Amino acid sequence: MSGQTDMVLVNKKGVRIDGRKTDEHRPVHIEAGVLSNADGSAYLEIGKNKVLAAVYGPRECHPRHLQDPTKAIIQCKYNMQAFSVSDRKRPGPDRRSIEISKIIAEALEKVVLTELYPRASIDVYIEILQANAGTRCAGLTAASVALADAGIPMRDIVPAIAAGKADGHVLLDLNKEEDNYGQADVPLAIVPSTDEIVLLQMDGNMTREEFDKALDMAFGACHDLYEIQKAALKTKYAATKGGEEDE
Ligand code: ADP
Repeated sequence: MSGQTDMVLVNKKGVRIDGRKTDEHRPVHIEAGVLSNADGSAYLEIGKNKVLAAVYGPRECHPRHLQDPTKAIIQCKYNMQAFSVSDRKRPGPDRRSIEISKIIAEALEKVVLTELYPRASIDVYIEILQANAGTRCAGLTAASVALADAGIPMRDIVPAIAAGKADGHVLLDLNKEEDNYGQADVPLAIVPSTDEIVLLQMDGNMTREEFDKALDMAFGACHDLYEIQKAALKTKYAATKGGEEDE
């Protein structure tokens, strides 16, 4: 988010470097139940981002001192693989992945009926296989499909997407170049049935009007993603029901 580049990120016709319009998100593909050894899982692509989410639980919480006698805790591990970016990323946790794990767990806590499972832990693993900006939103979107796939009771599933500003334009779903050289990035996650916000961050600067426009775009796109999330779960459920799965 340097805000400085000679690159034209949005041309005079309002077309972005990857051919999208300002209010268009990247193509999204979601598959539920892709891992047979996890309780629930999902694979998600949005543009060049590739993300795998796996869920275990509810199961007894370890270490035991983390147990909550009134509800389950959600433990989330967001991990960016060394090969997910063009310059090899140093493997292992860093401040960024700790922050992202925390905000994703907090967003999921708002929808999972944790009070049904006192002393338990619900473990969510998010692996970023390929990154091109927007991975926290992609990870959260995939994780909520994986939780639903695990049969964990939830109020709703959570879609997430960012909007922001680059080259002076308010843009939906920034790609890597737009994120790197843009002026602002605003990731948003909502509960679609109530439009409650469960994640909202902002990096960079924009005016109040630009912020409102970005938020509007992201809300609309979250509702699009929600339909794709539900379709992925329905496809998995139809396949399981039809006995096409051998697990
Ligand atoms: P998000 O992926 O949620 O947009 P950031 O804004 O922190 O989160 O990162 C934007 C993008 O920058 C990432 O999606 C990834 O493409 C790239 N990136 C982040 N961390 C690293 C890193 N350590 N090495 C190389 N690229 C990175």
